[in-house]
Amino acid sequence: MSTATTVTERTHAQKLDLLAAVAVRVGLGLQPGQELVMTASLDAVPLARRITEQAYRAGAKLVTTLYADDEATLLRYHHAPDASFDYAPQWYYDGLAAAYKSNAARLAITGGNPALLSNEDPDKVSRADRSLSRAYHPALELITRHAINWTIVASATPAWAALMFPNDAPDAAIARLWDAIFATTRINADDPVAAWKQHDATLQQRAAFLNTKRYAALHYRSPGTDFRLGLADDHLWLGGGTTAGNGNYFIPNMPTEEVFTTPHKDRADGIVTATKPLSHQGTMIEGIQVRFEAGRIVEARATRGQEVLEKLISTDDGARRLGEVALVPHSSPIAASGLLFYNTLFDENAASHIALGQAYTSCVRDGEKLTPEQLAAKGANDSLIHVDWMIGSGQLDIDGITATGAAEPLMRQGEWA
Ligand code: ZN
Ligand code: ZN
Repeated sequence: MSTATTVTERTHAQKLDLLAAVAVRVGLGLQPGQELVMTASLDAVPLARRITEQAYRAGAKLVTTLYADDEATLLRYHHAPDASFDYAPQWYYDGLAAAYKSNAARLAITGGNPALLSNEDPDKVSRADRSLSRAYHPALELITRHAINWTIVASATPAWAALMFPNDAPDAAIARLWDAIFATTRINADDPVAAWKQHDATLQQRAAFLNTKRYAALHYRSPGTDFRLGLADDHLWLGGGTTAGNGNYFIPNMPTEEVFTTPHKDRADGIVTATKPLSHQGTMIEGIQVRFEAGRIVEARATRGQEVLEKLISTDDGARRLGEVALVPHSSPIAASGLLFYNTLFDENAASHIALGQAYTSCVRDGEKLTPEQLAAKGANDSLIHVDWMIGSGQLDIDGITATGAAEPLMRQGEWA
């Protein structure tokens, strides 16, 4: 029962405003006088403008939005000279890094077409991807190190909605996608800010529990998966919000349902089968099954997008190793929606997952103060890529393995044990 405004009384415009307000105040934790750099697709202009308004109301010094255009991206693939695909504008990413170094906050609106590049030459896609990763690395490193407060939110877009709801008319599809975004980001709660605070506390508690356990490894079992994953020395579980290096408290993803930490890059053994397709930089990879030996992928198969997968894990040595392990109960609101979003922000929060590539320094105790060599010695992986893929389901059992080798039930049938 509630006495506040109920869900049905809110218009779409009001929900959009609430999403913008929650993104700025709870997700980003934007401080008065702080600069904001936002990225968005042209389809996300309505949400970007509301976020801009909320940011200025919160005291932003300046909001700069960098828009991307899916159609223009396709024009590059169709008409640019071949050499274009080995190039990325370093000046642009250096500009982002300079903004972060001068304490600008960062907000990304996700929601472009997840299958935009599915029909393009995989060689061009992976070359462009690699060039971009290289150019972006210094700026991205400030994000993964949590040097500044940042967050990601989603805007429904026509192409994304059409992929998720292929049998619906365009208007109906986009309305359904907005409903899903509002539901999973707790905008339908009577008081979304209070709902987020409570949810944040729950995630913090789960992370704290795992930090007292100090498991040496996790053992996963489900159909197609029998896999043992060592955790990094001095690993730290995180969940919900965290304090950035600039002192601002922020929640990096909206939605977020995961608790996550850094696995040991040399300690993964066994077979893992993905439970959801992976949309990676506009291409789809389905039916992923890989075998790990001493932390390294030694065999990788996919029923669709095998070539993209192989190129992806060949990016560098760290691309074959794991940089993140995350636990998400199968009853998370996103999993409960039964929807496949083809968007990592949502799908990674619907299922337990692991990520190939770069580890989060903040998931190692005092990680921000360690040199790359010291981090590597503790088992934290280093790579140009960070790609999450989903391995959780209602059939997944996970044991925590203690330092002495004892197994304790951690998750059973996809739920916390
Ligand atoms: Zn994750
Ligand atoms: Zn991740």
